[in-house]
Amino acid sequence: MNRLAIYAGIALVVGAALLFLPNVLDPANLSIVNFGLVYAMAVLGLHFILGLAGQMSLAQAAFWGIGAYSSALLTTKWGWSPWLSLVAAAVIATLFGVLLGAPTLRLKGHYLAMATIGFGIIVNLILLNWKELSGGTDGIINLPVFRVGDFAFDKRGNYYYLLLAALVLLALAAWRLRHSRVGRSLLAIRENELAAEAMGINTTFYKVIAFALGAGYAGISGVFFAHMPDVRYVSPDTFSFNQSVTFLAMLVLGGSESIFGAIFGAVFLVFLPEWLRQLPDDLKTIKQGYLAFYGAGIMLMMVFLPVGVVGWIEQQIRTRLLKPQPQLARPDLVAQVGVPGVGDQGSGVRGQGSENSRDALSPTSRPPVLELRELQKYFGGIKAVDGINMEVRQGEIHALIGPNGSGKTTALNVISGIYRPTGGAISFYGQSVGGKAAHSLTRLGLARTFQNIRLFPELTVLENVMIGLHVQSRTGVFGAVFPLPQSEAEEKRVKAEAIAALEFVDLADKQYQLAKNLAYGQQRRLEIARALASRPSLLLLDEPAAGMNPHETEELLDLLREIRGRGMTLLLIEHDMNLVMRLSDRITVLNFGKEIADGKPQQIESDPAVIEAYLGAEVVLNA
Ligand code: ADP
Ligand code: MG
Repeated sequence: MNRLAIYAGIALVVGAALLFLPNVLDPANLSIVNFGLVYAMAVLGLHFILGLAGQMSLAQAAFWGIGAYSSALLTTKWGWSPWLSLVAAAVIATLFGVLLGAPTLRLKGHYLAMATIGFGIIVNLILLNWKELSGGTDGIINLPVFRVGDFAFDKRGNYYYLLLAALVLLALAAWRLRHSRVGRSLLAIRENELAAEAMGINTTFYKVIAFALGAGYAGISGVFFAHMPDVRYVSPDTFSFNQSVTFLAMLVLGGSESIFGAIFGAVFLVFLPEWLRQLPDDLKTIKQGYLAFYGAGIMLMMVFLPVGVVGWIEQQIRTRLLKPQPQLARPDLVAQVGVPGVGDQGSGVRGQGSENSRDALSPTSRPPVLELRELQKYFGGIKAVDGINMEVRQGEIHALIGPNGSGKTTALNVISGIYRPTGGAISFYGQSVGGKAAHSLTRLGLARTFQNIRLFPELTVLENVMIGLHVQSRTGVFGAVFPLPQSEAEEKRVKAEAIAALEFVDLADKQYQLAKNLAYGQQRRLEIARALASRPSLLLLDEPAAGMNPHETEELLDLLREIRGRGMTLLLIEHDMNLVMRLSDRITVLNFGKEIADGKPQQIESDPAVIEAYLGAEVVLNA
């Protein structure tokens, strides 16, 4: 039986069970289920922020409250229908998500968590004290129910179906987002923010997107909460810090990255206190202290099962049952890997190397791709880069060498926009780019790898390379959620090009493995494939042969020659002198942040200053 039939079968059984549920549950339990479904929507929102983008937020109940109050006001004071206020409240909550996200996202870890707590407290205080608007402690009562014509969603039994439908739609949207350019960008930020930025992802923008989605889902959840037949009022104490912690606990229990986990966690944790409360009287301690048990349980989860219960089950299913067959690469796409600038989005800089110009032009007439003039980077008193001048010419492999600590990596970090230069100029195809953000440089056609490999370890090999295609694609939230023809086609192309890049570095058979499970040399090649996927015109490599065995180094040499042969320009930092001498067209030597020599390999080999620098370094090493 094929996999689709199995899925369809499971969906049919689960769907039938869900549709039948109100007929078998007693009213009290049905009410709890309804609360669970409402909470699940807010928890799904939090899954974008924490699970995908890896950012901590304890403001989810505040967005929930903003949604609930918006709808309460619009329906009671202005007589809007709840359907309309649902849309308005979602928009308002989303805007508040942007409002919170934009200024605070430069904060990391605990600081961001603190800022979100502060936001939650402010919202709560406003709800309490702005009496004319919010009704103060009394809140707003007698909210209308959802209606369709004469039919009113005023009973637990029928409201359940409304909630179920809404949750299915929200979960479907979340699932589509996860498997899109947007979801991959969020995950890339969680996995390695610096590498995400180097892949052309505007990390601040995407973090705001995560907060906006999270807040929007919470807002929708808040509306469904406020108009529940069992509720129909809002008051400030509902939308408290405690509730934000509960949402967090629900997500962590189920699995922060898992959609089913978010839903399971929400439903399970609304039931848990009820079950504990029903224990017989002689278990009084447990009954009274159920919150403590519940808290301890969450702490144990975070320590021993950080992926969550459902997250763990999904992991097992993925690794044990589903073994997807690697797809084959299209030969025409493989032939284009490493050809720069094709698929140009009109940056004006790329595309100049699309022909193999290496043989056509004599070395001196090749135009410079990258020029450094008196480039400086100081860290306080440390002059890591202290006035470097160099030119990297089109179609060449240009090596940057020098003793340890001579400033090579720092120079590369400044060129690629990770650091701002302290002084001097950088021009890329004649355009001054000093101080530009890393993600905009990637868009201009610059790509890099890192000395200490920076992959997205918990994502598949294929997803790693698909993220490399970020600047070669454009699907946004709308295109991700709705199956538009152009976004569907783009997703197919991105996947096919990623597979081609993997084939090029001989990793296509590993496409469904997690990046962290690759051998060391394979991880280095994956990083190169990911960089090539953005179709750069200049590729910067920081010690690609580090940690490779001689056989792997030979393969790397062939690979880099092949890339050059396809018209790309390379700037290579490398310690392996044998590799540098065999591969480079030109070498620049650094010592103490200054360039001390520049020329062809034969000239460098016999340069007294270079010999002196390396000998000096060795003396220091042996001391
Ligand atoms: P290389 O790559 O040539 O080995 P680096 O560029 O890594 O050298 O380092 C050059 C110098 O700058 C070293 O003295 C190093 O300690 C210093 N350095 C590098 N990065 C930083 C930083 N972020 N803060 C302070 N000092 C740094
Ligand atoms: Mg270095």
